[in-house]
Amino acid sequence: MIVESIPRPTGAKIVAQTLHSLGVKVIFGLVGIPVVQVAEEAIALGIRFIAFRNEQACSYAATAYGYLTGRPGVCLVVGGPGVLHAMAGIGNADANAFPMLLLAGSCETHLVGRGGFQEMDAVNLLSPHVKKAVRATLNDVSQKIRDTYRSAWYGRPGTGFVDLPADVIQGKPCEDIPETRVVPAPPRVGVDPERLAQLAALLRTADAPLVVVGKGAAYAQTENCIRQLIEESGIPFLPTPMGKGVLPDSHPLNTSSARSTALKGADVVLILGARLNWILHFGDEPKWDSNVKLIQVDISAEEIGKNNGNAELGIVGDINVVVPQLLTLLTGYRYNPASPYIQALQVSKVKNEAKAAKTAAIVKSPMGYHQVFDTIKRTLSKLSLPGDGNIVYISEGANTMDISRSAFPIEHPRLRMDAGTHATMGVGLGYAIAAHCAYNLPNPEGHSGPSKADYKKIVCLEGDSAFGFSMPEVETMARYNMSPLIFVVNNSGIYHGDSEEESQWLALQRNTNNSESGGLRSTSLGWEVKYEMMAEMCGGRGYFVRTPDELEKATEEGFKARVPVVVNVVIESGSGKKLEFAWQKTGAKK
Ligand code: ADP
Ligand code: MG
Repeated sequence: MIVESIPRPTGAKIVAQTLHSLGVKVIFGLVGIPVVQVAEEAIALGIRFIAFRNEQACSYAATAYGYLTGRPGVCLVVGGPGVLHAMAGIGNADANAFPMLLLAGSCETHLVGRGGFQEMDAVNLLSPHVKKAVRATLNDVSQKIRDTYRSAWYGRPGTGFVDLPADVIQGKPCEDIPETRVVPAPPRVGVDPERLAQLAALLRTADAPLVVVGKGAAYAQTENCIRQLIEESGIPFLPTPMGKGVLPDSHPLNTSSARSTALKGADVVLILGARLNWILHFGDEPKWDSNVKLIQVDISAEEIGKNNGNAELGIVGDINVVVPQLLTLLTGYRYNPASPYIQALQVSKVKNEAKAAKTAAIVKSPMGYHQVFDTIKRTLSKLSLPGDGNIVYISEGANTMDISRSAFPIEHPRLRMDAGTHATMGVGLGYAIAAHCAYNLPNPEGHSGPSKADYKKIVCLEGDSAFGFSMPEVETMARYNMSPLIFVVNNSGIYHGDSEEESQWLALQRNTNNSESGGLRSTSLGWEVKYEMMAEMCGGRGYFVRTPDELEKATEEGFKARVPVVVNVVIESGSGKKLEFAWQKTGAKK
């Protein structure tokens, strides 16, 4: 009897099936030959493929999706130039400790070295920058994807890269491929009990204890145990920019508005999922006290003792394991709510909050940053969705990000993303797409969308420069029926924009010096560019606004819209952080 053999699947199908078995729901990508076949097979299996306009934005989106969901985000690009553009996402994943699985096509194996189509040795190029970089063959592609996904996820998260040659994508294996085993969630790193007892004793005897909550704590979804720690111990806390929301900003023990006092006055600091890098001033003087004990809790042993961290006290462990154990050791302890440290924090809070309210109330024409954010905040607070925590804020651009950080209170975890550890401008629109996919896509099991109460509006606060990096992705948003509300805070330039003062100086330079020294300032961008048209060109809605009334109306309509909305807010040019130029230092004649 002749038994007809079942035709073996192509490599593309095996890749798609493997991703499906790993529980991948969304792929962020940009196709070409040969990876288009992988994308099509994935779509056929019910995986959502979000097709971007540039690999940079799509790699950023995959990393952000990894952060928001706590599992690697998947990015699929072509070889050569596609990989080069996606390196931006690799840097982002590495700098922020976000998990990403990057899959890229490459030329046929037998053409390597002969100048094949988009040929590039991506494995060698990327190896120093990723946790794992491998080239798949037809017989091991499934196992390699699984293992790379696992290593991107386990330990400190980062990127895993799999190179998929065209002959692997298009070919058929000569053996049956075993089913992909599920990758369970990463095992949790345990705790050294002696160290923990030491730490508990230190906290108990501290005069001015502080807990710093970082984006590692947000990523690891540790909000319940950290909340319990703060509420039971009464120790004040300080969130880092993306640690905001792990505990609500409105919490009485939040020291955000007394940040300088909190840092300088603390004597024992428990750092949960944050690194002592520039964001925390390296743990050094003058921002911190020279005798401060900085106790890091981190899943990465290499992080312990870095910069001014007290290595002998640091704990290698998962916050979700360390904090509950610490809680048992702190039983009966409560930090004195009337301590001089708490009093100093209170004084500083009241002073700084009054100052901020005064600044926000300044009315100018054209508007300044504070007035813009205050208007948006007040309008948004009037427009409520049924649920609580229903807005995701994404912000980037030097001044836009810095000033808006304290303007919008974040009450729930993972509802605020910004330029992050690398201060990467251009991540915003990719992040917005990732947030939509993480929060608002129909549940693949139940096939229904998020309930009305769970739907989250994505609000982007973009500087005009930051928006420019990824503006074509507004079309991506429109194509997939996303409805973010994007504000472009437009001062016609980078940092402080093209102020009149500098323009005059420039004009003078042009006239008095030789003609070659002229040209626009390096911080100048187009004057009152009509960024709102990026939405209008693809079925979205655009607003060009100058006044608070126009801004309020646009915010209200934009919030309710079910298409992408770009609100182009023209503010005073020359507004924001000033850079000091050489001519200012030398007192050159203006
Ligand atoms: P921030 O920018 O908020 O200061 P960082 O990105 O610098 O935060 O630091 C986050 C840290 O959190 C990283 O060092 C990472 O290793 C760590 N981390 C991630 N997950 C966990 C976890 N489950 N437990 C402890 N530390 C974690
Ligand atoms: Mg600007």
